[in-house]
Amino acid sequence: MSTPLGLALARTIALTGPMTVADYMEQCLFHPEHGYYTTHEPFGAQGDFVTAPEISQMFGELLGLWAADSWLRLGSPSPFVLAELGPGRGTMMADVLRATRIVPGFSDAARVVLVEASPRLRGKQRETLAAYEVEWCASLDEVPAGPLILLANEFIDALPIRQFVRTPEGIAERMVGLDDDGTLQWGLRPEARLDARGDALMQRAPVGAMLEICPLGLSIMERLGARLATEGGAALFVDYGHSGGLGDTLQALRAHTYDDPLAHPGQADLTAHVDFKALARIATASGARAFGPITQGLLLERLGLPARATRLKRDAHDAAREKIDAASARLTDPAKDGMGELFKALAVVHPAIDVVAGFARQEEHPT
Ligand code: SAH
Repeated sequence: MSTPLGLALARTIALTGPMTVADYMEQCLFHPEHGYYTTHEPFGAQGDFVTAPEISQMFGELLGLWAADSWLRLGSPSPFVLAELGPGRGTMMADVLRATRIVPGFSDAARVVLVEASPRLRGKQRETLAAYEVEWCASLDEVPAGPLILLANEFIDALPIRQFVRTPEGIAERMVGLDDDGTLQWGLRPEARLDARGDALMQRAPVGAMLEICPLGLSIMERLGARLATEGGAALFVDYGHSGGLGDTLQALRAHTYDDPLAHPGQADLTAHVDFKALARIATASGARAFGPITQGLLLERLGLPARATRLKRDAHDAAREKIDAASARLTDPAKDGMGELFKALAVVHPAIDVVAGFARQEEHPT
């Protein structure tokens, strides 16, 4: 039993041949009729997963203070663009804008721009941010010129990845094809090419090893790095991921449960872990400086989560206090259900900035 999108993809594959994992992901997430983000409300208790801004207002508040600190270090440019990539329900930007009201001049100087691909989520963001003047763009390239402060939480993990497998004969690309019954199944296209670094990594890897590449994430980071280096600015990415290496991290989540990525196309969220080292490498190669990745737990503690939690608890009832403690733990704990360790943060900044809130100097990525 497939989904309507599964049937449509099977027809396409029958006509034009197997598709890359990246094309499959793109269709599953953003197909105009059946795509996951086109049709679903993914976030929150009713949805398929909960993100940090939906767990607690403290997350957006602390990232807001990071944005304000970066703005001051840039010399308080006015105007400047305050942008978010993939804002979901708009919750984080609302917390950012509320928390930064205490910073003189920041709100007046900020031109708020949301980069969002899903028309349905744009509608949600419009509701959440009704009190503010906000603009939308379809991609980073459309974001107005000038100094830029950019935030992104769980954005890169939603971008399509390609997967490459080491076989006895060489490197193959993992594809989505059809079995004899016309059901989606994994396959391999032989003789795939990677860049020199990827080729070298795979030649040394054991048969069966998998390397993932996120072409869109890399190209966004390349353009962002070049833009920050020429026009000034700072960006902070938080996501779950790793610091380079091999392995299959493609995962499907449906109603808070892991699912087979081929089982329910369009009805499950598909993501992959972010290769932060690859992003840091390309950002520095394009002229910016990169700091991290460090764990989300460390970032939030350094940005003052414990003090913020204490302050919020002072005015709260017992039940609300417990909720604040639970949220702090969920955001920072390295343990199984905590996001503190798996989630990581990477800052990319103009080359003249050498102090970045939340990051130590020795955490700078070598240029
Ligand atoms: N930042 C939010 C939502 C994360 S989900 C949160 O933390 O709750 C990923 C978000 O990125 C969604 O809003 C999705 O529609 C958006 N998105 C994914 N790929 C995109 C792309 N290529 N261009 C613009 N937005 C994209």
